[in-house]
Order: sequence, then C-alpha cells, then structure tokens
Amino acid sequence: MTDTAPDRRLLIDGRLTTATTTFASLNPATGAVIGHAPDAGPAEAEAAVAAARRAFDTTTWATDRDFRAHCLDQLHRTLVAHKEELRALTIAEVGAPHQLTAGAQLEEPIGVVRWYADLLPAYEFSRDLGVVEARGARHRRWVEKEAAGVVAAIIPYNYPNQIALGKITPALAAGCTVVLKGSPDTPLITLALGELIAEHTDIPAGVVNILSSSGAAAGEVLTTHPNVDVVTFTGSTATGRRIMAAASGTVKRVFLELGGKSAMVLLDDADFQAASMMAAYMSCSHAGQGCAICTRLLVPRERHDEVVEMVAQAMSHIPVGDPADPATYMGPLISERQRDKVDAMVRRAVADGAKLVCGGERTNPGFFYRPTLLAGVDPDSEIAQEEVFGPVLSVIAYDAEDNNNDDAADAVRIANNSVYGLSGAVFSASEERAVNVARRIRSGTFSINGGNYFAPDSPFGGYKQSGVGREYGLEGLAEFLETKTFGAVAK
Ligand code: NAD
Repeated sequence: MTDTAPDRRLLIDGRLTTATTTFASLNPATGAVIGHAPDAGPAEAEAAVAAARRAFDTTTWATDRDFRAHCLDQLHRTLVAHKEELRALTIAEVGAPHQLTAGAQLEEPIGVVRWYADLLPAYEFSRDLGVVEARGARHRRWVEKEAAGVVAAIIPYNYPNQIALGKITPALAAGCTVVLKGSPDTPLITLALGELIAEHTDIPAGVVNILSSSGAAAGEVLTTHPNVDVVTFTGSTATGRRIMAAASGTVKRVFLELGGKSAMVLLDDADFQAASMMAAYMSCSHAGQGCAICTRLLVPRERHDEVVEMVAQAMSHIPVGDPADPATYMGPLISERQRDKVDAMVRRAVADGAKLVCGGERTNPGFFYRPTLLAGVDPDSEIAQEEVFGPVLSVIAYDAEDNNNDDAADAVRIANNSVYGLSGAVFSASEERAVNVARRIRSGTFSINGGNYFAPDSPFGGYKQSGVGREYGLEGLAEFLETKTFGAVAK
C-alpha cells in the first residue's frame, strides 16, 4: 500500500476540471497526506446545478429507460473493472479495513448498481386505475411515474462508496440528473467515481456532476438552489436538521439518513456468548463509524456482570491495525477531530458514573482508538443518548422480572428511550419472542439472533430523528420518482 493517491478532479457538465484552490486528504491510519482535492465553492456548485438542470430539461435522459439501463450496466462493468484501484483508495483514504471492502465499503455497493441495472427493464412506470363514471361520462384513469428532476446528493465520510452509489444509482435509474458532493474527509474516493463515469461510460454530460469541498458553502448552494428538486442527504442529525430547514425555502423533497443509537436486546433465554461476541465485533466495525451499529447493549440486570466479562474478552481479541492488512478487523477513526470527540465522550461517560472496563485510549500513529467498553451505563446519560461514532459500547441493565406477563417491558422502554430509530437487534432462544420484541421498538431495521437484513433489495432507513425515507430496494427508487395521474374521457 502506497501512501499516495493521484490528485483528483471535479466532474461538471461532462468535463473533469479543477478549482482555484485545493485541500489535502489524509490517510487516517498514518496521518500522512495522500492527495489533494479541488475545493469547490458556490461558483462550481452553481455550474454543476446548471449542467444537471440542462441535462434533465433538454435531453432524453429522463424518458429513455433503455439508454439508462445500458448506462447503469456500463457503470457496473466499469466499477468491477476498476475495483482494485477503488479498494486501494478506500483503504488509504477512508481507513476502511481490507475485509470491509469485500462488503459494505466497496463490493456490496457495486452490487447495488447491478441490482438497479437489472430492475430497470422490467420496472412498471405506469399503473392502470380503470374507468369511473362521472358527470354522465366514462373516464379512463392511469398513473405514470416520472423522474423527480435534479437531485442534490450530499454524503458523509464513513461509507462513501456505499452511500454515493446508494444515492446516485436509483436516482439515475429513475431518470433524474445528479449533483453529488463528497465528504471533506474523504473527497478523493468520490471524485474517483466521477472520473470513471466521465472516462468509461456513455452517461451524458451534465447527468452526473461530482464536487468536493472543504467547507459547507457548496452544499448550502445545493440545498437552497431553486433548480434542485430533491435533496438526498446522509450525515449527522444536526446537519440533517439544517438541510431540512434550508430546503424548505423552495419546498424541495428531502430525503434524510441520519444518526443512530441502536439497541441490542439480550432476552433472558438468549445465547449470551454468541450475542456478546456479536456486540463486541459490531461495535468495533469500521471503528464504530457506522450509523446502524448497535451501540447500546441491553442485558437482564442479574446477567450484567457476566455479559460485561464476555464482551471485554471478545474485544481483547479484535485485530486492530493497518487497514491494508487483510487480517485487520478494525482500523482508525477518520480524523484527530473525531478521535478528540470520541475520547471526550468516554471521559464524560465515566464522570457520569459509567465504569470503563477496557479501552478509552488512543494509539499512534494515525487516529486509532482502542475498542472501548463502558458498563453500568445510565440509560439517560449522554453516552446512552448521543451518537459517539467511535468503537465504544455501552452496557445497560434492564429489569427482566415479569411485569403483567411482559418481562421485556423494561428492555423495550429503554430501547425506545432515544430520539433515534435506525436499527436494532434482539437475541432469544425463541425467534417468535425476539420478533415480538423487535416489533415494539420504533426502528427501521432489525437483526434477529444475528440475522443480516442488508442487501440491495432491502429498504434501509430510520424512524424518528434517524431520518425520513428509505434507501435501496423498490422504496429507494420511489424516492426519486414523481407521480402523475391522468384522466381521459373513455371512448
Ligand atoms: P456531517 O453531517 O458532518 O456531514 C455530512 C455531509 O454534509 C458532508 O458532506 C458535509 O460537508 C455536508 N454538510 C455539512 N454542513 C452542510 C450544510 N450546512 N449544507 C449542506 N451540506 C452540509 O456527517 P459526517 O460526520 O460526515 O458523518 C457522520 C454522520 O453520518 C453520523 O451522524 C452518522 O450517523 C451519519 N450517517 C448516517 C447514515 C444513515 O444511513 N442513517 C449512514 C452513514 C452515516
């Protein structure tokens, strides 16, 4: 693995271009600069929106489904052909362990492109509503689904390939045009996508535009611009609130995938060893920088200490280190800023009464933070309520005694004691019992006994302040479609 990546260019109106200034991108495993990205400002954002608008309004992109299917197929083939180059950059810039690039950091997102390319030829863009009688005549009615227009897609740093492709692929399948803005922490990998699109696909000029910027100004143009119809955003709940407010001025459709503070509930008949192992590994997946990770582990009070010991034991075996090493399970945090934030939250958790069982330490070089376990956590404390985005698991005890024939009542109450509702997990010897508990927790996705729900056809998204809308699957396509209803006098 080299510590250098070529400087990259913006994609605006089919041209790969630069900006007047650039900013550096770091390898989080070493802290070294790996390359530079153009620092797009409002002027570049304006040009990108103008190109996307023109492509939407004056070309056949929105109406030529066969051509779009051809372009998505081509995009998929291109990504497959350049997979190793993308893998190396994802490891170097995102700090994603090699293992994760075989899944959600790279190969699964490429699979999402395949899924929408295959869906498109058969997708029903219209629906017959039959005939009604009104005012002495018969009326034939039908519904057509049309592209929603120009889409602004704004993404975070943690899974840039997954989130970029999870947004632009269904948007393109629907017939929209797109301006995608990468994260300031991981600009190069998103720009690399733009270069592949420009150089290896027939996607017309202006249909996909890709920006990188070090600050928020370019993003603010995208969320307020009158020529943008849809904003699809993934990131923190705080930024999501700002974006929703900014987009309200022009009443845009807003899709939000935000933060999470998901709970894993161990019912008293669960396999505690298997669940503890999963809790440990899941909380350290991509160093905890995942929105759907279960960061609260809810255990029956009388089993609390036993579970803490099992989780600590599992955490001590997690291979932490160079993300390029295929044996590494956990790599670094994205930045020193993120590491400071995580460390400060762990210190405050201890001040709030939690017990630091293991971790709570930085290691150098790079931005590593040790797998961290906090026990006896108060469910109302900051560490149980706020997203950490670091390898930190909080164990919370619940009372499992029978309460009106409902021994999961306290666990459900604590799980729902959150402004978030993105994901969750339940472990029990009885799948039926686990599913019944999951149904009572207000959250968009659930794992039962370690089951995996994530796939290109699985809708993903949050309840409450974890977001609005669903990504992937048929629901993900619907986010980018408008509905037009027709009525014609029947002959
Ligand atoms: P962030 O909110 O800081 O930034 C996300 C993006 O928004 C970046 O591209 C940033 O430049 C841009 N941005 C910031 N201010 C803006 C503004 N005023 N107008 C327009 N754009 C603006 O998030 P982050 O730190 O990069 O990522 C971590 C967060 O993302 C976590 O909260 C995590 O839970 C969330 N996330 C959610 C999901 C999900 O699917 N629910 C997935 C991944 C990450």
